[in-house]
Amino acid sequence: MNKPPLHPKEQDRLQSLHAHKILDTGQDQAFDDLIQLASQLFDVPIALVSLVDEDRQWFKACVGLDLKETGRDVSFCGHAICSDETFVVEDAAKDERFSDNPLVTQADGIRFYAGAKVCDGSGLPLGTLCLIDHKPHTFSEEQQQQLEQLARQAGRQLALHRLLADLSHASDHDELTGLLNRRGLLAEIDQASVESDQIQAVVYLDVKRFKSINDAYGLAAGDQILEQIADRLQQAVSQMLRHANGTTAQIARIGGDEFVAILCTRHLADWVQHTFAQALCEAMDEPFTCNNQAHYLGARAGVMTSLPGQRLEASQALSNADIALHQAKHLGHHVMRFDHVMREQIALEMQIETRLREAVVTGGITAAFEPILDLHTGKVCGFEALARWNDPELGRVRPDQFIPIAERAGLIDRVFQAVASQALTVCKAVTTTVQQDLWFSVNLSKAQLTDDRLFDQLIDLTNKHSIDPGRMHLEVTESLVASCDGMIDKLHRLRKLGHPLMLDDFGSGTSSLSCLKAYPVQWIKIDRQLTDAADKSLQYASIIQAVADLATNLGMNLVAEGVEEADTIPLLQSMEVAAAQGWYWSKPLEPGQVANWLIEHNRRGDTQSRVA
Ligand code: C2E
Ligand code: CA
Ligand code: CA
Repeated sequence: MNKPPLHPKEQDRLQSLHAHKILDTGQDQAFDDLIQLASQLFDVPIALVSLVDEDRQWFKACVGLDLKETGRDVSFCGHAICSDETFVVEDAAKDERFSDNPLVTQADGIRFYAGAKVCDGSGLPLGTLCLIDHKPHTFSEEQQQQLEQLARQAGRQLALHRLLADLSHASDHDELTGLLNRRGLLAEIDQASVESDQIQAVVYLDVKRFKSINDAYGLAAGDQILEQIADRLQQAVSQMLRHANGTTAQIARIGGDEFVAILCTRHLADWVQHTFAQALCEAMDEPFTCNNQAHYLGARAGVMTSLPGQRLEASQALSNADIALHQAKHLGHHVMRFDHVMREQIALEMQIETRLREAVVTGGITAAFEPILDLHTGKVCGFEALARWNDPELGRVRPDQFIPIAERAGLIDRVFQAVASQALTVCKAVTTTVQQDLWFSVNLSKAQLTDDRLFDQLIDLTNKHSIDPGRMHLEVTESLVASCDGMIDKLHRLRKLGHPLMLDDFGSGTSSLSCLKAYPVQWIKIDRQLTDAADKSLQYASIIQAVADLATNLGMNLVAEGVEEADTIPLLQSMEVAAAQGWYWSKPLEPGQVANWLIEHNRRGDTQSRVA
């Protein structure tokens, strides 16, 4: 038996065949019609469209035979694709190339074969349209031409199939990276077959700092980096899969710098979160190169997993993984896994944001005023203005809940405007009624300090209320000042406008004494937790003492926040803390209560006294 030779352009031929994405696809009426016609026209029991793959021939269409494929070694079509003309074997039993071929020698084997090449657009033969009979035939020149016509028709059908396959690939894949796109990803999640002991998981990655590369170096550079990211992620996934038997994974790019990995695995959800997703994030920590320069990006991930054997609903899964990602960004974690509390939290935040948009235009944001006392004289020296919001639908919303939302939603300057203008109104009214010099402090957020409109806003406010800016103190937290370059310059500019500055929440986080001298602030506010701790432990009292000593040296004043007990007052006085505030004297007062409270406090007249 002669094995079929390899085609002279075998590699190109196979590449073209595979690019058609037709092997192992389902039945197709157009090919079926062609071979039905061939079988009738040439009066043979068997007709096929056979595609010759690397080591098999696979039948796209087949009449009269109950097979899907045979080995290439025994195939007649393997010979036919290498033949210049239509390949005809009139009696295989008498042809020495085929007489001992098992397809011939088997019971009811092949005696007659005629195959015309089915070619791709560039003329490479991918297979044949062929006729087979169990008895010998002669095959005329005219019949050969007719068979070739049918084979050309099959070739056109093949080209059409490829066009459709290319179109569908383009609509499911990202042009730049070749990864799945959002549409392809959703289809993959929907079509994934999950075994009973497997879980399905979605890992949603957000690449950090990609936008700044795009902005600084242009879109072409951005594209280069995106291609590198895609390669890097694919490598990381392949590496993980090598050590994770029975796990399958794919990657998609679903937005500018948003990548998603989907997987089916027998590992636990913890593995997906702490090993798989973590490895993808770590892969992004290595530098990327562009314009001969190294760029450090990094990534965060949100993870959504199903229960074993359960299938994920694609768009829901993606949205849940996105929520987990949102939380990871919000809390500064690398990877977080979705749970239902997160969804409720997000829904509540969205509701708060919607209501807040209304509140800032309808006057829903008000201020409450907490007295700050001079610990030497026992007199009130100022008030801290704190934002308050009592929403008709949501009820009272705490500032530590709505302030971060106002910052993210770009509404913080409106909140500040409401609080500060109420503070200035109350400041003027109370000073006149009580005949006492007072200042009011207002809290600033990071988003305000990074926006230069703050300066005009402050000038407008003090002008409109005809108030000396020295009577409007501004509170900034230490973490805010330390958060980015340029903040200290901003503080100098605020001071130039005449506003005294107060460093808020000192001692609550990573406070540093050595940085204090770089801050152009006149006041330091000792955080409530530290005040509280000082009362109970000498170690904390000595921290306050050290801050007080340094503050005195630097010409700054100290305010202790959160005084609730009378016992704390002499301790603070002994440490030369200048002022204090807290619920011991008063909870934050409504605007209309401030003057009366002050009159009553002055009447009693010492640091220990509080208004009932
Ligand atoms: P903060 O600036 O440190 O304000 C002090 C917080 O501690 C206030 O809570 C106040 O009511 C509370 N407090 C004062 N004394 C005591 C005490 O003796 N015991 C206890 N347990 N608590 C005390 P509030 O009003 O809920 O404000 C919370 C945070 O929300 C503020 O912390 C501030 O960071 C922010 N915030 C409030 N109003 C504004 C505002 O208008 N703008 C900005 N950016 N942030 C604000
Ligand atoms: Ca404050
Ligand atoms: Ca504070």
